[in-house]
Amino acid sequence: MKESLYNVAKEYDEKQWWVYNTLTTSLVFIEDEKYKRIFIDWDIDEDDNDVKALYEMGFLIDNDYDEREYLRSLREDVVNSTHRIANMMIAPTMDCNARCYYCFEHGCHHEKMTFSTADAIVDYIAANWNHDLFSVTWFGGEPLLASDVISYFSKKLYDKNIKFISKIVTNGSLLTDEIIKNAKGFWNTIKIQVSIDAEQDEYNRIKNYKNGVADNPYELVINNVKKALEAGIKIRIRVNFNPLEQEKAKSLMSTLEEMFGSFDNYDCYFAPIDAPSKVVPPIAGTFKDEKMHPWLSLIRFSQKYGYFLGNNRGESGNFLGDSEGILANLKIYPCPTNCYASCPHVFAVDSKGDIYKCHRVLGQGKQYCSGNIKTGIIKNDIYNFFSDTSLALKECENCKLLPICQGGCKINAYMYKDNHACCPAKSVLPELVEEYIRQTKERGLL
Ligand code: SF4
Ligand code: SF4
Repeated sequence: MKESLYNVAKEYDEKQWWVYNTLTTSLVFIEDEKYKRIFIDWDIDEDDNDVKALYEMGFLIDNDYDEREYLRSLREDVVNSTHRIANMMIAPTMDCNARCYYCFEHGCHHEKMTFSTADAIVDYIAANWNHDLFSVTWFGGEPLLASDVISYFSKKLYDKNIKFISKIVTNGSLLTDEIIKNAKGFWNTIKIQVSIDAEQDEYNRIKNYKNGVADNPYELVINNVKKALEAGIKIRIRVNFNPLEQEKAKSLMSTLEEMFGSFDNYDCYFAPIDAPSKVVPPIAGTFKDEKMHPWLSLIRFSQKYGYFLGNNRGESGNFLGDSEGILANLKIYPCPTNCYASCPHVFAVDSKGDIYKCHRVLGQGKQYCSGNIKTGIIKNDIYNFFSDTSLALKECENCKLLPICQGGCKINAYMYKDNHACCPAKSVLPELVEEYIRQTKERGLL
């Protein structure tokens, strides 16, 4: 018998410890003396009932059980899955009317999709979709600059009897009455994600919209979001934040909640900005100079608005061992892969019909491109990079979060070569487990 690699433990009070296993999601409280005897002194009696129970829960495992290999096999299963296409991210244009300093699309082309490229994508979907439900995410550039392409594409999907829904990722500046009508109507839009990075003056400075959008783009976007919410569209606001400026992110969330919190179809989340470390430090870092780690601090703050709390998704929506959805919402739940790009039938298509495994490099040209929708996928080096199940960072091998993040974001590891790849929970795992304990106790489950 040996100890699992994925046990995380902390003294809970003077008398006991908690131990959480990030692979099995088992949680146990053990008396101080017993914890030290078993996990520190390794004084193990395999006939002891406590030892047997810890084995059953995955805290102790067989000597020949290789957990790293098991996790690798999960990643491999995803790569070898043979599902047909269920979703696609499509950029109807790579052009954008904003110029955010952190945008990963600097240097990409700005072309709008032609109807002939749209036809080719629809033909590809018709030949390869799962014949159940196809989901298209309109991405860009700013996708609403090419609303005519979205309309054309949607009509073509109807013509081919492809049952579909759509989502839109937009800056919100072009959410006009007509777009809202189309989104609610024949675009079958179930959710619109709008990025808002700051309050008025700073927002207008960061977005740096090209001329003609509005005198006050912030006000325009806020009004547009309100109209869409009133029309019943589900809106998710993404608050991009710099971990060193957490107070700004909190203030923005409060302002937005004041304006939109009464809508049931409104939701908001924090997303750390991905940029080189000298511009924005990775959220997975330690932030020793801050009173509280920014990720933990933002989680605590946003809980007053109902975020990061357990959310029972009903019989079909909860994960095994997480009946209240607490672990999933705290983002400390295990996952077979963190990078959807490793799935064989998952890719994004830019406005030229070029295929990219990851949307973050959409439109960036040859270095990241794996073929074209008209000529098919090319399994080139970058394709193989995304499908490779080996871990990008050396430290992943010994990281207790491996079951949760499975090696993290591949493109961040590739571009920044540091813990930008890591999940935000990396430096605050024990605190998040304690949050899980608190919520579980509150619900009378412990
Ligand atoms: S590389 Fe990162 S951003 Fe791209 S699909 Fe994978 S996890 Fe997502
Ligand atoms: S990417 Fe980071 S958090 Fe994830 S397993 Fe690797 S080292 Fe750990």
